[in-house]
Amino acid sequence: MAICVHEKKLSGFELLDALTHEKASEFHVEINDRFYPMDKLPKLNPASSYTVQWGHSKETQGYDDKYIKYYRYSRIQEFIAENKSEFIKRGYRVEIIGKSVKGRNLYSVFPSSFSSEKKTVLMYGRHHGDEGTANWIIEGFIGKLLSSNDFFNRFQLILYPMVNPDGAEARKRYNSRGRDLNRVWNSSPSRSKDEVAIIQTHLKKIYLDNNEKPIIALDMHGSFTRDFIYRVERNFRDQNFYNLQQNFIDELGSRDKWQAGAYDLSNGDPQMARIYLVRDFAINALTHETPRDISNRGERTIDTLKSQGVDVFESILSLY
Ligand SMILES: [Zn+2]
Repeated sequence: MAICVHEKKLSGFELLDALTHEKASEFHVEINDRFYPMDKLPKLNPASSYTVQWGHSKETQGYDDKYIKYYRYSRIQEFIAENKSEFIKRGYRVEIIGKSVKGRNLYSVFPSSFSSEKKTVLMYGRHHGDEGTANWIIEGFIGKLLSSNDFFNRFQLILYPMVNPDGAEARKRYNSRGRDLNRVWNSSPSRSKDEVAIIQTHLKKIYLDNNEKPIIALDMHGSFTRDFIYRVERNFRDQNFYNLQQNFIDELGSRDKWQAGAYDLSNGDPQMARIYLVRDFAINALTHETPRDISNRGERTIDTLKSQGVDVFESILSLY
């Protein structure tokens, strides 16, 4: 299966046993919402059950010599600066809505005033710091959007382009406190954590509190191996909802030759952004996955990633 990380539950007893095996050094173990590497584990309770993740990006010297250029925090700052005036011309606000744990900017782009006549598109990027390709796709999406009067006539956008800037800078999945930010969305935002608490509170205040619903929500991620979309299983909601999700997957698949209609069914973790939106608001929320580390010696480049963002954009315009 194609996934964004390997994850399973192990008992404390199994984990203590695993400590004697070599492979255990790759494990991160969740204790009170934080993931710890095996050599920095607090005391385990043999009778408790723990979530374990593995398969993270390896530390690589000279990443950009081997892979498509890594998308750093400094690049999102540049990108925001480059496009801010264009968004403001279109009646948008481009704001720093708060700071990461280590003091980096959390950006949001959203309309100065929402119109109930327009359909809303919600997009997040980079819950996971080491999934840089997602941000190149967002750049392609935004580049196309800013040149489209049709979009601004019919749609409005809410964007949180980099949820985890500290993880992005460290090229680590987790935030600087070891949290998996796509496992800390809570139905009550006062109980969600760190960067997500700031973003979720902002989203609720500007939009979700008004009982409005985006036509689609896309959470942009990077996988191990292939391009695909995560959607919920048929039984999570009803058949209409299932079809709604499938329609977008099919439309995107007809444009994006890498994505090519691939999807994985997953009812996920209850504290994922996608699951929060589907469960609590019946929003058509999908996770978009593209390989996070793509060799720079093949067919794919920053430009082909951006063109995948254009494909996302055109799928939305054509479907809704
Ligand atoms: Zn991810």
